[in-house]
Amino acid sequence: MPSIPSPISDPVAILRDLITAPSVTPDAGEAIARLARILEAAGFDCETVTFSAPGTPDVVNLYARIGQGAPHLTFGGHVDVVPPGDAAGWRHDPFSAAIEDGRLYGRGAVDMKGGIAAFVAAALDHLATRRPGAGTLSFLITGDEEGPSINGTVKLLRWAHDRGERFDAAIVGEPTNPQAVGDAIKVGRRGSLSGTVTVTGRQGHVAYPHLAENPIPGLIRLMGALLAEPLDAGNERFQPSNLEFVSVDVGNPAWNVIPGKARARFNIRFNDRWSRPTLDAWLRARLAAAAGDGLAWTLALETPSSDSFLTVDPRLVDGLGAAIETVTGHRPELSTGGGTSDARFIKDYCPVVEFGLVGQTMHQVDEHVPVADLVTLTAIYRVFLDGFFDGADRTA
Ligand SMILES: [Zn+2]
Repeated sequence: MPSIPSPISDPVAILRDLITAPSVTPDAGEAIARLARILEAAGFDCETVTFSAPGTPDVVNLYARIGQGAPHLTFGGHVDVVPPGDAAGWRHDPFSAAIEDGRLYGRGAVDMKGGIAAFVAAALDHLATRRPGAGTLSFLITGDEEGPSINGTVKLLRWAHDRGERFDAAIVGEPTNPQAVGDAIKVGRRGSLSGTVTVTGRQGHVAYPHLAENPIPGLIRLMGALLAEPLDAGNERFQPSNLEFVSVDVGNPAWNVIPGKARARFNIRFNDRWSRPTLDAWLRARLAAAAGDGLAWTLALETPSSDSFLTVDPRLVDGLGAAIETVTGHRPELSTGGGTSDARFIKDYCPVVEFGLVGQTMHQVDEHVPVADLVTLTAIYRVFLDGFFDGADRTA
């Protein structure tokens, strides 16, 4: 079993440097500049790239790389943060990076400047002990994850790909752990699909229902059909797929009018048994069977939707799992629960997992990270990096 090398770089100093550059989305320029300075000093080639699109704010992103050839590991992250909320409600100024009782307070401490600081510290230590040319290490850092996610990772990935960058594996440093660092690696995500079922009747006077056709009973029947049975029972890697109605709308302010239309909106979080086309077919078959003849209904699915994905790459999943076990003494759970992150874009380029700090205080007042967690995460990343590039180092 590999031992845990003693650290040289200080993730706490790096994190304080990043937190004290307030970078409420999408205004991340100074935090990007500070990170670039740290990486440049360690020999990385850094490029800041600004992307724009009509109707969205310009966003500064950073691509930093060092080394040559394969394997190429990239670290994905964001320096933008959500607003502090009620700043007066914080124990310490949200951008002062104060430390009290072994906890470092600040907006972005866990989501996710802390993850970035830990990975930077681990990377610098790893690079200090390996021969040059033993593979490539890069950082894909955006200032647009908490915002519309239009001028961030999606465009940065395409930009890097167009320049010939080819990634073999990626880690996203989002706060994935529920209780303690090392609990869980996110190895995939469920897909997400939204849609609207509309039933059209004929508007009329409530006192003369025979002259109208109320769409509401028909819509209730269709909704019942979609809820009658679960989509599936889940499997070893994924929770059961779930259809959830989020709104039922008629929009009728009157008491004496039978409405002409009724609609219900829903979202499905689905596992790897399904795709957009198979869900589309399932929905239409259910609705058609429940509607029978004589009910006028339509189904409209929203674009974009996202497919589920599952990463099985052993170098990434087993390598990170082994590093976690080396440092913490236990094996992480492999999870596909929770919401979305930029990993949904990276998965189109290379295998990707998410692993970072404990998420409990993210987006809250008094967001903070125990210094001990930062040290643990840095050690895990370091052991993983040494192992990931080990083969390349020996054959270089
Ligand atoms: Zn985040």
